[in-house]
Amino acid sequence: MKTASAQKKVDSTLESIRRRVPAYSELADRFGPLFMAEGKARDDLRAKGIDAPGLDTARLVAGVPLLVDEDLSAWSEAFAASRDAVLPTVVDVLRLDADAAGAVTAHLADSANLVGLAQARIEGNRKHFENTSVQLGIEQASSLLYISEVVSGPVLRAMVDGMGESLSGIAWDRGYCPVCGSSPSISYLSPREVSDLDQLVGGGGKKFLHCSLCGHDWRFKRNACVSCGNDDNQTREVFYVDDVRHERIEACHKCGKYCLNVDLRECEPQPHLDVVQMGLIHLDIFARNSELTPVTPTLWNGLD
Ligand SMILES: [Zn+2]
Ligand SMILES: [Zn+2]
Repeated sequence: MKTASAQKKVDSTLESIRRRVPAYSELADRFGPLFMAEGKARDDLRAKGIDAPGLDTARLVAGVPLLVDEDLSAWSEAFAASRDAVLPTVVDVLRLDADAAGAVTAHLADSANLVGLAQARIEGNRKHFENTSVQLGIEQASSLLYISEVVSGPVLRAMVDGMGESLSGIAWDRGYCPVCGSSPSISYLSPREVSDLDQLVGGGGKKFLHCSLCGHDWRFKRNACVSCGNDDNQTREVFYVDDVRHERIEACHKCGKYCLNVDLRECEPQPHLDVVQMGLIHLDIFARNSELTPVTPTLWNGLD
């Protein structure tokens, strides 16, 4: 699944969103170019080859993600390539005013600043984004955070793509990502397996979480809350809208959080897991109206 071209998958997922919910077309048109630019930057970095971070089993066992404390300046060149590929599009999509756009572009032209923001994002250092936003005259720190995520994404994703088997082999049962420490933006049930002769052989249905930042997918207990680990059936609930049962809200009434879930056994072709969320905003609205908050705030689940 990981080796397919990211751009192709972005394109087919955007197309199916437009077809299914015409009301989301405007959104798909606005954000589509950004997803395409990210996909291309990721494909290019992967084709060029990118160094993998060290795999320290003892630290992983203790619950420390790979990139925490890792010096990201070793990947400066890759971050710069990603910036050049996606920054103009993200500035445009966010509709930043000319002053803010100029200030961000000038700031990120220095690779040390670029890497500094990526590092701050992985360390969860929100203060760094607030201070830098004030310094650059940007009203909302969340805009800079989003820009940093969009620029970092292709680098981290290419890294994850390149690690392949060595990553899927690690034991990890936590609700945050073993690579970058971020929380998942969506979960899914794995697709049916395909034999060498391209025939569906059934199976699938295992639950995975999809990282909101680096795109890594890791296996997780099917009947537990992603946020607090609660596995009591009485206090967890699943919601569907319009009887579309393969797209659902998994809610936990113990911590008040929810995470969307897609059953990939029912999806053909397989969607791009970041793009597909844009077509599920009705579920986010339903969850919010039920007094639930998302496990991971994204641009989509905050939209009205
Ligand atoms: Zn991650
Ligand atoms: Zn919970």
